[in-house]
Amino acid sequence: MRTIQKCLACGRLQHPARSICLTCGSADHLENVSTSGNGIVDSFTVVHRADEPYVLARIRLDEGPIVLSHLVDDPDPRCDQRVHLIPTEPPVFAPGRHVPPAHRSE
Ligand SMILES: [Zn+2]
Repeated sequence: MRTIQKCLACGRLQHPARSICLTCGSADHLENVSTSGNGIVDSFTVVHRADEPYVLARIRLDEGPIVLSHLVDDPDPRCDQRVHLIPTEPPVFAPGRHVPPAHRSE
């Protein structure tokens, strides 16, 4: 999920990917673009139907689209908190903000 679909005809980003743009109806100008991997928790729920409870969250990416994902390493999830993508398979989100390697301090 490091990419989301962009309509080059109208500029709209959408997720999940579809065969047409939901804004302008274009089917010929869709491509996948990279995301920052950053977003905020829009809402979440704690699922207790497994051996270990887990958090399922709606994440609003900084680019705008909303994705559903597991939220990990977060003992106290809350709405509006910053999260970042962990590129596992399947991808998950964790608290904090992704910092590109070129901007990390040692
Ligand atoms: Zn469009």
